[in-house]
Amino acid sequence: MPLSQLRPQTQLVRGGLTRSAFEETSEALYLTSGYVYPSPEAAEAAFKGEIERYQYSRYANPTVAMFEERLRLLEGAQVCQATASGMAAVFAALMCQLKAGDRVVASRALFGSCHYIIAELLPRYGIESVLVDGTDLAAWKAALAKGAACVFVETPSNPMLEIIDLAAVAELAHRAGACFIVDNVFATPMLQRPLEFGVDVVVYSATKHIDGQGRTLGGAILCSAAFMKDRLRNFLRHTGPSLSPFNAWVLVKGLETLGLRVERHCRNALDLAQYLEGKPGVRRVIYPGLESHPQAGLARRQMQGGGTIVTIEVEGGKARAFRFLNALGLIDISNNLGDAKSLVTHPATTTHQRLPAEERAALGIAEGTIRISVGLEDVEDLKDDIAQALKA
Ligand SMILES: *Cc1c(COP(=O)(O)O)cnc(C)c1O
Repeated sequence: MPLSQLRPQTQLVRGGLTRSAFEETSEALYLTSGYVYPSPEAAEAAFKGEIERYQYSRYANPTVAMFEERLRLLEGAQVCQATASGMAAVFAALMCQLKAGDRVVASRALFGSCHYIIAELLPRYGIESVLVDGTDLAAWKAALAKGAACVFVETPSNPMLEIIDLAAVAELAHRAGACFIVDNVFATPMLQRPLEFGVDVVVYSATKHIDGQGRTLGGAILCSAAFMKDRLRNFLRHTGPSLSPFNAWVLVKGLETLGLRVERHCRNALDLAQYLEGKPGVRRVIYPGLESHPQAGLARRQMQGGGTIVTIEVEGGKARAFRFLNALGLIDISNNLGDAKSLVTHPATTTHQRLPAEERAALGIAEGTIRISVGLEDVEDLKDDIAQALKA
């Protein structure tokens, strides 16, 4: 039965599995950097591209290939290429196609390192970058009027969980001649399928929900076969942001439980968001699955769930926010997310600390803003922990 015709949960457990001669149950870990050839003729044919085979793990590795194929099936993409981290995926997706004189238009609300690449690094190489309010289609139209090589967005965004209309931006991007890249980390492949909205390239930090248990870094790029052949393949082969086979093995096993975990993360997150809405000391609760979210309708159309992150603003600014964080007994303080363990971040002093205060204000990040990555604990224990910390 072709796996592409099976349902996502089956693909997550079975996709990409290629068994060795030993017929092992679990995916094998091929911890090898190189491969051997039976003859110089075979080596020559491999290097000429006459035969497809493993040559060197910077190019490809059987364990990494199992991870790539499993994620590819889930995403419904033609090609998946794994990378050593999410940032390696973002950087390669952009740099494999950009050159001096190009323009990039991106949403303003970006993960810190993505912001660094787009706003600081690209201009050093003669690539103009323009940041817009991702929720404002008129702003996209205006910024894209001059044409662009790439459009880059993250939706939902970090940490304010803004939703960008992927179909509408895809149309504007394509009219401007741009390649549309989406960072789908916050939505996860379970909740949002960007390719179905006309997006060209999807990138992931597999470090987050795909591992989901805080063990390894990893990333992935999903794209068309043509993009892989014409843009990405040589860039990756020769710059070397390859995923380690060991980390790929952790991630391919992570995919087996991704559906189960994301479902529970979302259930806990919605429950917690509803519990926090209107609670004394909490000024605002942002969660795409709540009716109070400014783009609740768009979130419903575009996503199959509200996601795993809840962002709140506590009253009393930084002092109260720090008192709250210090009083938490169960939930850990961490800049990571998408973990089995619930994690909280104070964006203004950590992930978004590098931004000027005006930029933070433009993004809506207040001194009292706290991002909660809702884990897999019993949600009643999470509520109890938060309730006692709010009283502190
Ligand atoms: C974590 C993250 C990244 C970067 O991924 P790494 O695996 O840490 O390199 C990029 N984008 C988003 C939205 C993220 O959350």
